[in-house]
Amino acid sequence: MYPIVKVNIKKYRENCRRVKQIAEERGLTVVPVTKAFSAMPELVQALYEEGFSVMADARIENLKSIGERTKATTLLLRLPMISEADDVVQYADISLNSEWETIVALDRAAREVGKTHRVIVMVELGDLREGMPPDQVLELCRQIGDLQNIALEGIGCNLTCYGGVIPTQENLGVLVELAEEIEQALSIRLPVISGGNSSAISLLMDGTLPSSINQLRLGEFLMLGNDTASGEHVKGYHNDIFVLEAALIELKEKDSVPTGIIGFDAFGQVPTFEDRGRMLRGIVAVGKQDTVLDKMVPLDPEIEIIGGSSDHILLDMTARRGAYKVGDVISFRLEYPAILGVFTSKYVKKIIE
Ligand SMILES: *Cc1c(COP(=O)(O)O)cnc(C)c1O
Repeated sequence: MYPIVKVNIKKYRENCRRVKQIAEERGLTVVPVTKAFSAMPELVQALYEEGFSVMADARIENLKSIGERTKATTLLLRLPMISEADDVVQYADISLNSEWETIVALDRAAREVGKTHRVIVMVELGDLREGMPPDQVLELCRQIGDLQNIALEGIGCNLTCYGGVIPTQENLGVLVELAEEIEQALSIRLPVISGGNSSAISLLMDGTLPSSINQLRLGEFLMLGNDTASGEHVKGYHNDIFVLEAALIELKEKDSVPTGIIGFDAFGQVPTFEDRGRMLRGIVAVGKQDTVLDKMVPLDPEIEIIGGSSDHILLDMTARRGAYKVGDVISFRLEYPAILGVFTSKYVKKIIE
């Protein structure tokens, strides 16, 4: 039965509704990103009911599931593999791209099934993950114009993912100017300027996001209300939507420092310990195979995570002597990497609250 991740769908809807309203006042479309919760069907359904008409994910499997449950337009976030071109045109209406060869493969795949596939060209603005250098984007867009089954949906960028570079009016300004240059040089209109992810949230909130940016792709902000550029939580948004429940399988008074000669732990590290004397130690039945230990917070503030291994998490429960017994359930609020972990683990049951 345990471990279980419980999702409070009402709170998720509230986060989504709140940011959607702010975005709409600024003429901006929010594209919810579903990858961290593996496009859980109930959440996808809720997003659709809340009026989000485009949804994005990094994996074809998840887009397929979105397409089976809703009429939403689907957007593939991760640059397509050439080998998956057929699936991309079948399950994604739009994809993010930065490679001519891949776009040609998509064009061919789209032609075979009589479709037009829409492409957003990604621009490298300094974070050093995906994207075309700005000075080569116009030429790529020009070439795309010659392809029969590809439509140029727009240009976009992704920041604060690898290099930690935060979005500013300057780097986003490059994107905006580039869009104007493309529209003039090619006499076209770009329907979408996709200005990034949850790290752009503070620019949206304080009104400094360049006005021609008309789309943000939001995952973490909707799930946790975090401004990922500053790492700060934005007041008024829920951060306890995803809660992991795990069962106590041992609860004993033990030393705080191991006895014996210390070698490597299960993950090849030499562990160090702080002597806190005798303590009440708990073990819950969930581990590094399922989640990320330092990205989960016990809901009981008197409990502390002290470590773990593949299948166990060790807890300091000294401050809660007498409060728990073996078999009880310990609950944790999850941050982004832990949410990603539990949804990917086949050992964690997922339920809606
Ligand atoms: C994951 C991803 C996002 C969403 O990022 P968040 O920080 O969760 O908002 C947006 N765009 C791309 C390309 C992504 O891969």
